Amino acid sequence: MIDLRSDTVTVPCDAMRRAMAAAEVGDDVYDEDPTVKSLEAKLAEMAGQEAALFFPSGTQSNLAALLSHCRRGDEYIAAQNAHTYRYEAGGAAVLGGIQPQPLDAEEDGTLDLKKVAAAVKADDFHFARTRLLALENTTGGKVLPLDYLSRAHELARARNLGFHLDGARAFNAAVALGVELSEITAQFDSVSICLSKGLGAPVGSVLCARRELIKRARRWRKMTGGGMRQVGMLAAAGLFALKHNIARLADDHARAQQLAEKLMRIDELEVRGAHTNMVFITLRDGDYDAFREHARKNGLRFGERVAPGVARLVVHKGIDDRAIEDAARILGGFFAEHSGASEREKLRATNSPRAARAR
Ligand SMILES: *Cc1c(COP(=O)(O)O)cnc(C)c1O
Repeated sequence: MIDLRSDTVTVPCDAMRRAMAAAEVGDDVYDEDPTVKSLEAKLAEMAGQEAALFFPSGTQSNLAALLSHCRRGDEYIAAQNAHTYRYEAGGAAVLGGIQPQPLDAEEDGTLDLKKVAAAVKADDFHFARTRLLALENTTGGKVLPLDYLSRAHELARARNLGFHLDGARAFNAAVALGVELSEITAQFDSVSICLSKGLGAPVGSVLCARRELIKRARRWRKMTGGGMRQVGMLAAAGLFALKHNIARLADDHARAQQLAEKLMRIDELEVRGAHTNMVFITLRDGDYDAFREHARKNGLRFGERVAPGVARLVVHKGIDDRAIEDAARILGGFFAEHSGASEREKLRATNSPRAARAR
C-alpha cells in the first residue's frame, strides 16, 4: 500500500526503536525524566525559545498554548482552515471559554494583516477581548514568507496580542527556506512543533515558549491528562528524529515536486498546488469517487481534508522514488481505463431512444 494520506503514517525505523528501548527514563510528572528534559532543552534551543514542554499530541500542545495565552471571554485570531480552529474539536472554546475569530486565508496561506488589524476588537464591554494571533507554518504545505512573519510579529506587538505559531511542520518550512528553525520561530511567544509528522517519531509534540508561559502550560497539560510518567522512551524517538530526520525532509519536498510534475502530464487531472511535501489535485472531468476507489483498489491511498473532491497527497519518509512512479502510474491508469468506457457510454447515449427523441 502506498499511503499518501498524511505524513503521520510513518513508522519508527529499527534504529529509532533501539534508541527508544535504550532511553533513560524517570517520572516526568515529577520532572525527573532525563530524556524528556534533554528533548525539551534541545528543541527550546533550536526554536530560539527559553523553555519547552513535551506533549502527547499537537492538538494538546496547541490547546495548552491557547489556554495559557487567553482567559475566558478572550479570543484568538486564526485562519478558517487553521488546525487550531478547524481540526481540534473546538477545544479552546469547550475547555477554555475562548472564542475563535476565524479569517479567510489568502491564496499563499497568509492572513492579510490589514484584515487581522481590522478584526482586533476595540476595548468595549460588548466585545470579547482579542488576545492572540495564531499562525500556522507550513499551512496546507505552504511556507509563510519570513518578511511576512516579521510584519505579523510587529502587528501583534503593536496591538498587544500574543503571537502563537502552530509549527506542526515548521521544520518543513525551515528546510524549504534553507534557514535554521529559530529564524522562523524565535519571534513567536509560543510555538508547537510535531515530532510525529515528517520527522517520523511515533508520538509527540513540543511546545516551546518563554519560561513563564511554559509554567502555565504545564498546569493545563496536567489538567487535560497529558502528564505522562516514564515517557523518555517517546522523547528518545523525538531526539532521534531531530538528529537524523530533519535534513531528509528535503527529499520529501523533491519527491512531492516530482509527483506534481508527473501528474501535470495527465490531462484529466488538475494539480491545484504542490508545496513542501504536499500535492493537491482535482479532476477536470470524471467521477471522483470512482477515481478514489480505483486508487484504493490498486494500492494507493490519499486524503481529502481540504474540500470535497480535492485529493491531498502527502509525501513522507515511507515514500521512495519507486512509490512516486507507482502512484503517478496508478492515478493515470484510471483515465486510461475509463476513457474507453466513457467513449462507449457516449456512443450508447447518442444512440439511446431518449437521445433520439431529443434530436
Ligand atoms: C497534525 C497537526 C497538528 C497536531 O495534530 P495531532 O494529531 O494532535 O498531533 C497541529 N497542527 C497542524 C497544522 C497539524 O498538521
